Amino acid sequence: MYKILAVDDAKDTLLLLEFDLSAEGYQVMTTDAADSALRLLEKEHFDLILLDMYMPGITGMAALEVIKRKEALQHIPVIMLSAADGEDEIVAALELGADDYVTKPYIAKVLLARIRTSLRLMEKNRELEILATTDFLTGINNRGRFYELASKAFIESVRQKSGLVLAMFDIDLFKQVNDNYGHEAGDKVLVEYTQLMGKVFREYDILGRLGGEEFAVCFPYTVIEEAINACERFRLCLEQHAILPGKQAQETLFVTVSIGVASTTIASPGLDDLIRRADLGLYEAKNTGRNKTINADKLQPINETQAPLIDYIDTMNDEEPAPKVPQPQEFPGIDQKIGLGNVLGDKSLFKEILVMFYQDHHDDKEKLQSALSAKDHATAKHLAHTLKGVASSVGAMALFERAKVLDKALSGGEKEQYQLLFEGVAAELIKVMAGIEQELAEQLHNVSS
Ligand code: GH3
Ligand code: MG
Ligand code: MG
Repeated sequence: MYKILAVDDAKDTLLLLEFDLSAEGYQVMTTDAADSALRLLEKEHFDLILLDMYMPGITGMAALEVIKRKEALQHIPVIMLSAADGEDEIVAALELGADDYVTKPYIAKVLLARIRTSLRLMEKNRELEILATTDFLTGINNRGRFYELASKAFIESVRQKSGLVLAMFDIDLFKQVNDNYGHEAGDKVLVEYTQLMGKVFREYDILGRLGGEEFAVCFPYTVIEEAINACERFRLCLEQHAILPGKQAQETLFVTVSIGVASTTIASPGLDDLIRRADLGLYEAKNTGRNKTINADKLQPINETQAPLIDYIDTMNDEEPAPKVPQPQEFPGIDQKIGLGNVLGDKSLFKEILVMFYQDHHDDKEKLQSALSAKDHATAKHLAHTLKGVASSVGAMALFERAKVLDKALSGGEKEQYQLLFEGVAAELIKVMAGIEQELAEQLHNVSS
């Protein structure tokens, strides 16, 4: 069940929110001030935050800034609740990292739809993050993530003047496992090997699969003797750990591992150097019989040009080439960078939103015209105002500008301007809607049929 934190100084709004959100099956917690909200966020996990912009004391905007700066909180979607005429503030909030906004008094259906969208995006991002940072086979940190976490730990160890140790692991003669038992059995060994690592090392040790049968562990707040003890414990456990290579095979197989360990007690210019030294230890372990742990701090310094694994270290720093992004379709009058950016690059969601935008607003031109002809300026204003908001969220920036000017004129009662400004809006509407119609004809058809 998703847990939502609602923050608003108006008690009646909180009551309403609590009612509407609970009815939808969300767990809701409410508070009437930003400072107590920030305290709650320190203590408890929330999946989404509804945050009022204007509150006495710390404003919603200030709280938003704090939330989006904190690493532990910044991924939580925040929907701002704002007064209907606060568009400059809305823009500022979106720039500060707010995920969406809803104007007050809110319409429950709209708010709930926005919440669903935000939660869906959050889930997608979480999945993507996991895919991008974990090793597919073993589920532990992949090389990039390991490097990122170990770099942070390294910087922290320098700041705290505490010890840090890095160990490199390479399974011995693993090629033979594949050759003798098959690749599937090899995979099984890698999975069990990783599970054993998880059991032996501490929770705050950073584990990573660097590639193939090569792993690394970064031990924060540790001196080399302790780390060597831990590595030896693991090596001995592994040596005795029987693995069933096949489904029906009675036979068991055993593997061993060679380990090189290096610490920051020896002046380390950086993590790369530490890895390089640990790798020299590993190389030494391989060359002197395998199945052992070598303290690289005690090795004679080796001339760098002869260091055997330098090439490998270099590859660790190679940035993966950026994947080629297919060019999005062109929608006339829509800046896709902005529109897509509003949904964090989720193209299929963006298309869905364009379809919704089309359905709700494709006859706004006629509606606006008839409201203006009937001198029903309240309706005209409502239409222009809404159009302005949705146009900016899909990235239809020219339409946004024109709707904004019309909205303003309607508010200011500048009657002689109405028709001219309306024509500007109408022309842009036709362009944008025709574009969507052309590009998304199929989706529009599917939805309407
Ligand atoms: P050494 O003791 O010198 O490390 O010998 P080794 O055989 O372990 O070293 P080598 O680097 O020659 O071979 C590593 C093997 O690991 C070759 C490759 O097929 C296998 N391997 C790498 N990744 C995977 C994987 O994801 N699954 C399986 N099953 N095998 C893998
Ligand atoms: Mg090996
Ligand atoms: Mg290898």
